[in-house]
Amino acid sequence: MYGWMGKILRVDLGSEAVTEIPTEPYAERFLGGRGIASRIYWETVRPHVGAFDPENRLIFVTGPLVGTGAQGATRMSVIGKSPMTLPEGFCYGNMGGFVGAELKKAGFDGLVIEGKAKRLVYVRISDNKAEIRDASSLWGKKVSEVAQSLREAYGEKVRFITTGVAGERMVRTAVAVADHESAATGGWGAVMGSKNLKAIAINGSQAPQVAEPNKLKELNRYTVEIAKRFRLAIPPMLMGRKDLGLEVIGKGQCHQCGLECIRGKYRISTGQEGYRKCQAMEVYLPFTYGRPEEPPETLFNAPVLCNEYSICTFEVRTIVDWLYACYRSGSLGEEETGLPLSKIGSMEFFEALLHAIAYREGFGDILAEGLARAKDRLPSAAAQMIPHDVIPILRGELDPPRAFFAHALIYAMEPRVHMPLLHEAAFLRANWKIGRMVPGATPVTWEVFRNVAKTFWGSEDAANLVSFDGKALATKKTQDRTYIKDSLGLCDFAWPIMYSKTTEDHVGDPTLEGKIFTAVTGEPADKLETYGERIFTLQRAIMVREGSKGIESDVPPERNFTEPFTTDSLGRELTVPGSSGDEVTTKGNTLDWDQFKAMREEYYHLRGWNPETGFPLPETLARLQLNDLAPVFPRKG
Ligand code: SF4
Repeated sequence: MYGWMGKILRVDLGSEAVTEIPTEPYAERFLGGRGIASRIYWETVRPHVGAFDPENRLIFVTGPLVGTGAQGATRMSVIGKSPMTLPEGFCYGNMGGFVGAELKKAGFDGLVIEGKAKRLVYVRISDNKAEIRDASSLWGKKVSEVAQSLREAYGEKVRFITTGVAGERMVRTAVAVADHESAATGGWGAVMGSKNLKAIAINGSQAPQVAEPNKLKELNRYTVEIAKRFRLAIPPMLMGRKDLGLEVIGKGQCHQCGLECIRGKYRISTGQEGYRKCQAMEVYLPFTYGRPEEPPETLFNAPVLCNEYSICTFEVRTIVDWLYACYRSGSLGEEETGLPLSKIGSMEFFEALLHAIAYREGFGDILAEGLARAKDRLPSAAAQMIPHDVIPILRGELDPPRAFFAHALIYAMEPRVHMPLLHEAAFLRANWKIGRMVPGATPVTWEVFRNVAKTFWGSEDAANLVSFDGKALATKKTQDRTYIKDSLGLCDFAWPIMYSKTTEDHVGDPTLEGKIFTAVTGEPADKLETYGERIFTLQRAIMVREGSKGIESDVPPERNFTEPFTTDSLGRELTVPGSSGDEVTTKGNTLDWDQFKAMREEYYHLRGWNPETGFPLPETLARLQLNDLAPVFPRKG
């Protein structure tokens, strides 16, 4: 079976039984990563199970491309019942770096953790073996301390997943952290804590077989070439902060990846160096809290400290912004919170906040439940200041539906804000905008934008982000492609390659994932589209089983129809290309209800769903070989 090691490891922490599940039947129907993990969830996690119940599963699954040398194929999906969503429900995250590839090198395509250990444990995985070992010496340790202990025990090459004190104490926003500064949000660190599981340590020496190794090498060379686009070296909010002396001194590659991306090795003016990436670098911005004199280490070390305790950086950023607003307005004070609010922006405050949340001390215990759940335990003035778009995972006004109309159904149909689904339009728009400001800096002109829309979203009409034309098809294509990406194990920072500096027309290659899939697995590329539809439909069934009401639930947050857009969750006013490529503001936009309903109906037709219920028709389930999902959809669907 090319691309795979052939088995998924299953560890029951309660009975200490270690067994294996064959990968093949799952891969045949659900491709990999997100698809396989969702199917295992469907089969094993009943709707009434709570996130912290022993019956919940932590399901890690890599993809068929992971560990094969395919470019950007580093991702491992993490799926389970999340303590972070409100209410607790099905959710997903994923992690990059090296750990997914190492799991395959150890002989396993995935790992299912179930039950609750009677003692504090970690799971040790090495070539085709797994054992449950005592973790009492690791308990209470920060991530870097766990890393050091595991490296002393198993060598420098050990790869791992762990969680800090926040996970141990079941802070709902606790992340599962892997080496190389990788982490998966969704509350998976808290689920590890609920199972008395501190870490998973992995070493392997094998490799998956590739069907056509020479073809894969050729495709890798082509991928590296056409993936040359525009590299945003410094995250947007740190641009212009010359005082930090922030510079990129190298790439921050994950396993065998040679692609350009925003994960890099950085240095600041004090000479300190480290790997950082993306939004996490902006988790704490002292200058926005009136502390321009704060040393650059404060900003640079803040994401590392979040990982050490293992608290989701997005949540932390929102909490700090909210506390600052509360303190300035007098809604919260130092006495009632026990936090040095007058020092927001300093490292002293940041450490005090993370410590209080991770150890659930005093006011930190309220925040440990997540800001979305904290409302009822807060003074009403402070509760009212929680931003209206705070939802349990990320924020509801990131590239929101009334700024990008195609996001209306995307927002409505997911259990969390799923950035890869939003990135297609957001990255393209950002490149187009940079190109207008600095001509030639990016390949995305208005003409390229339209051609990309036609190639990847199905029509030139889809290029106009603030019209409903072509958006039903664009939404379906984006969803299916993203689910395929998450299932193959491809990284969202690199894929899909929609535009390029090196192709003649500057449009990327929508066939590339399929060609690589064929080179690795020997399977025909045209299977991928059906996989996308099938996995999406499976997730639909899971969500309906857990309470989604189909058409009634397929509505984005009401404010999109009623409140004119001003700025997004990060305070940005968004401009987009108008119908002739001129720059138009989205300020003041709302969604039109009738036009939204027409788009939704068209979308249901494209999916083969009943337009009255939003449930798949029986013939659609049959076409996708998903007849076993039928009982979950009410009869008339
Ligand atoms: S593109 Fe960047 S983040 Fe993605 S796999 Fe490659 S190095 Fe890692």
